[in-house]
Amino acid sequence: MNRDYIFRGTAHNDNFRIFGVSSTDTAQKARDLHDLSPVATLLMGRMISAAAMLSWDLKNPAAELTLRVDGSGKLGGAVVICCADGAVRGYVKEPQLWFEDKDANLLPGKALGKGTLSIIRSEPETAPYMGTCELVSGEIAEDLAYFYLQSEQIPTVVNLGILVDQTAKVRASGGFIIQQLPFADAATAAEISANLLATPNVSDLMDMGLSIEEILARFVFKGITWQKNEEHSLTYRCNCSFERFSNALLLLGKAELSTMTKGIKPICHYCNTEYKFGSDEIKSLIEQLTNTDKGKVNNK
Ligand SMILES: [Zn+2]
Repeated sequence: MNRDYIFRGTAHNDNFRIFGVSSTDTAQKARDLHDLSPVATLLMGRMISAAAMLSWDLKNPAAELTLRVDGSGKLGGAVVICCADGAVRGYVKEPQLWFEDKDANLLPGKALGKGTLSIIRSEPETAPYMGTCELVSGEIAEDLAYFYLQSEQIPTVVNLGILVDQTAKVRASGGFIIQQLPFADAATAAEISANLLATPNVSDLMDMGLSIEEILARFVFKGITWQKNEEHSLTYRCNCSFERFSNALLLLGKAELSTMTKGIKPICHYCNTEYKFGSDEIKSLIEQLTNTDKGKVNNK
């Protein structure tokens, strides 16, 4: 069952942009697919929430938003890709990382170490956009807020919550982003900031049964008018296929493929599906390349 969704809204006469996400089932799916440890689950869950909200502005149905972190610590980094339709996939470099020290298993930022956060927007027929910034804490929410301030000079609040139990089962995952637009009323901004300070931990509130909308209404926008404008679903779904892997293998070229004639079994990083390319399949790929070469010669 999947009950996850992303939404967009506004507050105080469009002075503030709001994005919200409920990602408990999607984070759980990622946890199960990759058998993630608690610290890897925390990182993945927050990145899924963040990428889902960042993907809202994608216009083309074939567009993708990639959020990646790379760190010098033991966790190594992670990648999450969200499509315009809310299909998300991802992986953590060291999915089963486990610390003896209990508290360390709750601190993905410490396990990531120093590094960078990157956002890549790729839309068909458009040059991809890529922005990178240094990690501030590696806990993702803070890093993303810093990214917005650095790259777009937009004051942004990012709140990402995820609660896992000792077996890394995801009890609650979700979050919100609030962006203050240039003409926003300063008094209202101050009011929201004060409300945010008084807002309890988001994942704890979700675990008590509150939706992100209820959290925004009861705490963050207490005394402020706000509205939800649009919503769409969020699911963990990989788009890999035998055809995609064939195309990737073709890019390797004939010489490289000739070393694989006994067959290979590539595994998708994002969903762990194994694809079997037997010797016949490899031979047919080499043949395809040979035929294209001949085509090129004939066209001269
Ligand atoms: Zn896959």
